[in-house]
Amino acid sequence: MNEYDSELVRSILKKENYEFVTDELAADIVMLNTCAIREHAHRKVYGRVHSIRHARGKGSPVMIGLLGCMATNLRQDLLEDRSLKIDFIAGPDSYKRLPQLIHEAADEGQKSYDVTLSEFETYSDIFPSAEDRVNPLTTSRVNAWVAVMRGCNNFCTFCVVPYTRGRERSRAPENVIDEVRRLAGEGFKQITLLGQNVNSYRYEDHDFAYLMDEVSKVEGIERIRFTSPHPKDFPDRFLDLMAVNPKICKHIHLPLQAGNDRVLDLMNRTYTKQEFLNLVDKVRAKVPNVALSTDIIVGFPTETDAEFEDTLDVVSKAQFDSAFTFKYSERQGTIASKKYPDDVPDSVKSQRLTSLNKAQKEITYQKNRAHIGQIQTVLLEPYPDSKNPDIMPGRTDGGKLVLLPAGRYQGGDMVKARITDATPHALKGQALP
Ligand code: SAM
Ligand code: SF4
Repeated sequence: MNEYDSELVRSILKKENYEFVTDELAADIVMLNTCAIREHAHRKVYGRVHSIRHARGKGSPVMIGLLGCMATNLRQDLLEDRSLKIDFIAGPDSYKRLPQLIHEAADEGQKSYDVTLSEFETYSDIFPSAEDRVNPLTTSRVNAWVAVMRGCNNFCTFCVVPYTRGRERSRAPENVIDEVRRLAGEGFKQITLLGQNVNSYRYEDHDFAYLMDEVSKVEGIERIRFTSPHPKDFPDRFLDLMAVNPKICKHIHLPLQAGNDRVLDLMNRTYTKQEFLNLVDKVRAKVPNVALSTDIIVGFPTETDAEFEDTLDVVSKAQFDSAFTFKYSERQGTIASKKYPDDVPDSVKSQRLTSLNKAQKEITYQKNRAHIGQIQTVLLEPYPDSKNPDIMPGRTDGGKLVLLPAGRYQGGDMVKARITDATPHALKGQALP
């Protein structure tokens, strides 16, 4: 989402004739788009601001702006922290005010900020162009992100998103389709629909299944993905559509968070262990060969060893293809930070993370090995592997990384390949003649 938001920011500022440079040392203004989801991301921003100031030295002043979630959460601290020297701050709903904020900071010498959260802002009038779309260090037209909804109403007790990004709001389907058509016209092959709870998308009578179906009708788009969904919003209608629509990739990210009912309840996740496992069964029954990935947090306050075993049990039963795993990180302002002291020692969180990762790694490896011998359609990534130019990476429909020998094809090609080998991290393959 931050990558997409940075594209919005580029688009907004380019209209005001700002020029984008890739070399931080040559810039007059550096903007960091921040994430507040975990302490680690947060600390990185402080480190980056200091290293930019240090690299530029006294003789080469630079303005620094902070964008995104951390900006919302910490505006006061940031503006008052003299050692940080932030010039301006814009929260996720304030990017259209950036030209004004920069003007105030640059010309009037004020510390300027706007972190107001909006109930309506969806940036539906900003369509980043292909040049805004991509990381300026590359020039790819393979995947484009499109945010279809913003914000979150779920208030999982550990999560800062509802406070930093505000309430849920969705873009009109026609408006999303318009953007997708332009992207197809610019040569993009894959669209990834984005939202904090993307499958809670709703605009008047239209739900997420309707939106996906409409996006899939856009000529030129070959693959559609979506992230991040919540397990509570997977109606049969959506799964049935996914099963029959060849453009909708057969990959669902299904964030589990924890496997124990008491912990899930404390987290306010709205499902039990058994309900989650039933959903996994239903998804697999309706969408054969679907790849499932997940997010898991270990060491939520008061989680016992026995309760953590329930997480391992779900992992073993659900057989996810891959998992993003995190140690619980207390975030200021969340319900958990007010009600439940962060009482699981870091050493215990680390042990749980290690055993969880070990279990998942073996499952991922076996899942990957099961592809050996299959023919898969691979959408090639923009460029050969940065460390090994003889390797061309790509993704299967299920989102698995496939490494092919570089050769007759180029980024964005859809290639049929036979899978010849597998590691826990990737598949290896040979393109068919
Ligand atoms: N909306 C998605 C859902 O319902 O699960 C999750 C989106 S959240 C922005 C991305 C992931 O970050 C979460 O699934 C969760 O595993 C992790 N996360 C969020 N808050 C966290 C916290 N306080 N500590 C550790 N991990 C956290
Ligand atoms: Fe955070 Fe996702 Fe829960 Fe929303 S649904 S509060 S984004 S974890």
